[in-house]
Parts: sequence; C-alpha cells; structure tokens
Amino acid sequence: MVKSFQVDHTNMKAPDIRIAEEIPVGRQNKIIKYDIRFKRPYKDDPMYPATMHSIEHMMATSIREISQATIIDFSPMGCRTGFYLTVLNPPENFISNDIKGAMIISLDMDEVPGADKKSCGNCYYHDIDDAKRELLDFLEFYYGIRLILR
Ligand SMILES: [Zn+2]
Repeated sequence: MVKSFQVDHTNMKAPDIRIAEEIPVGRQNKIIKYDIRFKRPYKDDPMYPATMHSIEHMMATSIREISQATIIDFSPMGCRTGFYLTVLNPPENFISNDIKGAMIISLDMDEVPGADKKSCGNCYYHDIDDAKRELLDFLEFYYGIRLILR
C-alpha cells in the first residue's frame, strides 16, 4: 500500500505538516514528500475546490521564489483536506522557514499567478480571497502568527 494511505486518517491533527514519504536518491540525495494538512478529515469541512486551486497556483509559485531547494511538486489532495509538497534535499529549516515564508508571500499576491487560459486548465475556477483566508488560518493555528490583511 502507498505509504501515505497507511496513516490513520480518523485521528489526524490539522493544521499540521508531516513527512509523508522519504525517498532516497542514490547515496547523497533524498526526496521528501510533505503532507501539509489544512483540515482534520471527518471533523472539519474540507476546502472548496476553487480555493484549493488558487492555493495550488499561489504556493507552487511562492515556494519556488523563496526556497533554495529544488521543488518537484505542490499539488492538492483529492480528499480536499490538504496538499502534498515534494522537494529534493530540503534544508533543515524547510518547514519553519521556506513553507512559512511561501504562505506569507502568497498573501501579498493581488492575483492568482498563472490563472490564464494558456497556463491553466480551468482559469475561471479560482477563489483568491478564500485561499488567503485558509492561508491566514494555517499561519495562525500552525505557526502561531496572526496576520491581518490590508
Ligand atoms: Zn490551474
């Protein structure tokens, strides 16, 4: 069974970030797949798909802006409770610095990056305001940073 299916989803903390999978690449390198959980399965309402679509675009962009590590993928979970972030050789402080920073700079975006017909498969299906609300909640209840948007 796929590793991320093996954790108990009936007793999951959220917001939370955990390592879902660690894949060694040769002797020197490793790929880490993070589970960035926004919602507790079966306890919280899942996120709206349009909200997740915007978070996907915003975080996929901002994590690459802020991080020195090679970002392989940032993608939504089909169950709509979180995202997977896959990274090659993340630094020690990747969760406390890079992911947090990416969330903070996402809040500064005035529009969803790549939300045009050429770059996206459904560019009318976005909700940037709700995406920012979810990111604000994550920052407050996971990182303990209370931010107020202008
Ligand atoms: Zn898209």
